[in-house]
Amino acid sequence: MTNPTANEDDPLFRHLPTIRSVAELRAQVKDWRAQGLRVALVPTMGALHEGHLSLVQLGLENADRVVTSVFVNPTQFAPGEDFEQYPRNEKKDLALLREAGAHALYAPPVAEMYPDGASTTVHVDGLTDCLCGPVRPGHFDGVATIVTKLLLQGLPDVAIFGEKDYQQLQVIRRLVRDLDIPVDVLGGPIVRDRHGLALSSRNAYLSAEERETALVLISTLRAIADKCIRDRNHLDEHRAWGEAEIRMAGFDRVDYLDIRDAETLAAMDYLDRPARILVAARLGKTRLIDNIPLDPPAR
Ligand code: AMP
Repeated sequence: MTNPTANEDDPLFRHLPTIRSVAELRAQVKDWRAQGLRVALVPTMGALHEGHLSLVQLGLENADRVVTSVFVNPTQFAPGEDFEQYPRNEKKDLALLREAGAHALYAPPVAEMYPDGASTTVHVDGLTDCLCGPVRPGHFDGVATIVTKLLLQGLPDVAIFGEKDYQQLQVIRRLVRDLDIPVDVLGGPIVRDRHGLALSSRNAYLSAEERETALVLISTLRAIADKCIRDRNHLDEHRAWGEAEIRMAGFDRVDYLDIRDAETLAAMDYLDRPARILVAARLGKTRLIDNIPLDPPAR
């Protein structure tokens, strides 16, 4: 039986080890494997919220042991981005992971992930040329490199990512396939607050007023989807309408609002196959991203 008042001094409190090195991670995973257990990895940058925890839950449903990594990866922040300000709270993350039922936190220091002289980068072509790619130079190289390293370090059976970062999920699926990394990649649906705002560690930067304005993202994506389903031949008109809505609502900049093939992220003129509507826009100092699926209506 769980003890709701348990604290760390309580012997009933479930221990959740914090792993700091590649060697310890490998030893832990090897030990679980020797017991015939299936291992899931959930990579994050911390400041955990319900969105991350839903991925831990997905891990528990698809494996026997779940490791969550927390690493604010410097190489995926473009120059001038919020690497320094990015929220960090390991103690709170640990408590949330324990409550969610994770089995280990992997939180390596930067020097463990990028030892002196590290000079190899993983670059995924094509998929990174659109959407966030041109706006965040170097971002996907940083993501692809760190995810490749995490997968090779832990060699989990399954790795879990959120559809919140939809382009990132497609990039990771591609690199896993291209580099023959023996892992199943699973994507989890976006978790939203009760108003529809996609949860994000960066929402902490928003003022109360900006939070209100931010809701226009999801309402506009949904309205575009309705328009596209009613009229499948004018996707760009619906897209342009949505972009204007977001600007008028008070966003400072729309980095992109696009309708793309759900798998290849190729541009689409007609709704003839599964698509995704994706947006990135800036509100004050906060850059928000969101996306929803758009499937052609059944004939
Ligand atoms: P981050 O810590 O922002 O790098 O995110 C770590 C993982 O959590 C990524 O795979 C994200 O796509 C996923 N994630 C972040 N926010 C959400 C959300 N609201 N719903 C589902 N997954 C999320």
